[in-house]
Amino acid sequence: MISFHPPVRTLMGPGPSDVNPRILEAMSRPTIGHLDPEFIRLMDEIKELLQYAFKTRNALTLPVSAPGSAGMEAAFVNLLQRGDKVIVCQNGAFGGRMKENVERCGGVAVMVMDEWGSAIDLDKVEDALKANSDARVLAFVHAETSTGVRNDARALATLARKHDCMTIMDAVTSLGGIEVDADGWGVDVIYSGSQKCLSCVPGLSPITFSARAMDAIRNRSTRVQSWFLDMNLIMDYWGGSSKRSYHHTAPINALYALHEALMILQEESLERAWERHALHHQALVTGLEAMGLSMRVAPTHRLPQLNAVNVPEGVDEAGVRATLLQLYGLEIGAGLGSLAGKVWRIGLMGFGCNQKNVLFCLSALEDTLLSVGAPVTVGRSLSAARGYYTQQSV
Ligand SMILES: *Cc1c(COP(=O)(O)O)cnc(C)c1O
Repeated sequence: MISFHPPVRTLMGPGPSDVNPRILEAMSRPTIGHLDPEFIRLMDEIKELLQYAFKTRNALTLPVSAPGSAGMEAAFVNLLQRGDKVIVCQNGAFGGRMKENVERCGGVAVMVMDEWGSAIDLDKVEDALKANSDARVLAFVHAETSTGVRNDARALATLARKHDCMTIMDAVTSLGGIEVDADGWGVDVIYSGSQKCLSCVPGLSPITFSARAMDAIRNRSTRVQSWFLDMNLIMDYWGGSSKRSYHHTAPINALYALHEALMILQEESLERAWERHALHHQALVTGLEAMGLSMRVAPTHRLPQLNAVNVPEGVDEAGVRATLLQLYGLEIGAGLGSLAGKVWRIGLMGFGCNQKNVLFCLSALEDTLLSVGAPVTVGRSLSAARGYYTQQSV
């Protein structure tokens, strides 16, 4: 065997996204102990940077030492006890995982279902809240990565508060790409992931709990079913007091990486990061449409960072992705669930959301579609996208 050297790729799928070299460099610095005072100082800075990213003053704001799925699990196991009723909105793959989590916690999931590719219907959610006045939590996905849909998080959180329900929000793909406003929207638990719009290495899940959620966790009548994810224990390691006690060995170097990723976000500012995602998304869509391709999701609730493109009739969608990877080193995503075989998912996340990637993706896709005889309009896409950029810079 020899050391592993990954091929050079451009990652424009649903995540992971391309990692900024500054972050990889930070990760390669020497490992120190997880109770070293210098490491504790780094943890405090990470908490502060995460509070900026989530737009919150929540004291319990930290990265879970595992990927986004563990953040999801941490939200449910800490907030729920057996028999609790949760209204779960599902309009894609990740809402389905929330249902799994509720049921595995011994809770009762009341499902509000919408089509894959449509947004969550607020009227249906309000009806479910009225019909289930005993529901404790409303759970929803902000950015549905499986379909490219943006759900109206502010309105959903407002509805939940009106009906005295707590909220759990999945912001794995939204954080850093579109607005997330934990305090302004009054969401109780929000979890995210390191490898999407934060462009950090995979394996960490930033999470934040409101004071109301913290109270609920402290006053549980039964223990959290997961020892590893029990926030009552994790608070003693990540907590505000100067005395920190060992819970598990933090992923030291991955946290160097997260610190750098969050610094990069703060240097740019949240607002400018959201604007950059919107700009390159619009340029990509302009180019794709000039090629004769169509978008799956209506413009009003498209995610800039995850673009679902309809696969033209008769085209082998997996074959196209394989060619993009082999010839161009370009990774884009396949459809999931009911959209399998029907869409490609093109990510414009964090560091990878730039003009070079937009133009590269358009040219690689046009060439590949042409080579398989797909009905595409040739030679229009790049100039259309460039035209969009020119128009925006005046
Ligand atoms: C990627 C993703 C997850 C899961 O994150 P992992 O880091 O893969 O565990 C959860 N929810 C959404 C919306 C995602 O896009």
